[in-house]
Amino acid sequence: MEVKIFCPATVANVSCGFDVLGLCLDTAGDEMLVERTMQPGVRIKEITGANLPLDTAQNVAGVAATALVEKLHPPYGFDITIHKKIKAGSGLGSSAASAAGAVFAVNHLVGNPLTPKELVHYAMQGEKLASGAAHADNVAPALLGGFTLVRSYEPLDIIEIPAPENLYVAIIHPHIEVRTKDARAVLKDRIDFKKAVIQTANLAGLISGLYTADFDLIGRSLHDVLVEPLRAHLIPHFSFIKKAALDAGALGAGISGSGPSVFALAKGNEAAGKAAGAMAQVLEGTGIDYEIHVSNINPVGIKIV
Ligand code: ADP
Repeated sequence: MEVKIFCPATVANVSCGFDVLGLCLDTAGDEMLVERTMQPGVRIKEITGANLPLDTAQNVAGVAATALVEKLHPPYGFDITIHKKIKAGSGLGSSAASAAGAVFAVNHLVGNPLTPKELVHYAMQGEKLASGAAHADNVAPALLGGFTLVRSYEPLDIIEIPAPENLYVAIIHPHIEVRTKDARAVLKDRIDFKKAVIQTANLAGLISGLYTADFDLIGRSLHDVLVEPLRAHLIPHFSFIKKAALDAGALGAGISGSGPSVFALAKGNEAAGKAAGAMAQVLEGTGIDYEIHVSNINPVGIKIV
């Protein structure tokens, strides 16, 4: 009759995988309770931890759940309660966590007619509300876990990529606002041919490193020559934060989604902890509040709790 779930935060782009790659976190995320009701329709009953719209049509969870209900036509309705822990606009897939959580829960409460991969399409409808584009780079890792590659949208083709067991993520979330709109506005319509070749080589290297658990190759490949140079100035102290993570032993670091969060990948929990501490040190005394997260790669995505 009801299901309580953990809706994980996600890191999109992952340096060289702009708009196509994403990974799922395990220690950062929202909680959601979805109740099956006799009254048809989808309602947002309560939201704690953030000031977000309760109007079903204005909340990504409501929009995504409605898209799935219109497909499945179940003989019930759904009441959604969201406990927000990931702030909207953090670059950690806050809207995706809600959209993915909503479709996961509705599907569960009607007997799981769709696979997690089939749910991606419906969760994307929520993302369309948040950013104007029905993108999958956060909802796919939230629903499937691990690393995911959005190989194509038409047709939708999501590839699950295995992550080495000992691969960890360090995150720093500076409490400043980077509007997705602004982060999109700095992008250019055309890209340099030579840079495109470098980016392609690094993306292929990263994917290969993930499959073969080659940590050195993962580190050598974590470079973004296309987008990071255009966006770095939107995040105060970005180059120092990144350098601190690398100096502390991280394999690589970059902007999480469209920022302001910065992620670093590391071999092992301890190394990730050191990277997180080093990144935090950069913001100490700057007057910018922040929070840090250290997580393994969540292999399953959304979890029933
Ligand atoms: P992030 O980069 O952290 O994923 P987004 O920019 O994708 O954040 O999404 C935030 C936008 O989505 C905000 O405008 C917010 O008001 C809107 N929104 C609507 N419903 C939700 C929800 N349930 N959770 C988070 N954001 C939501």
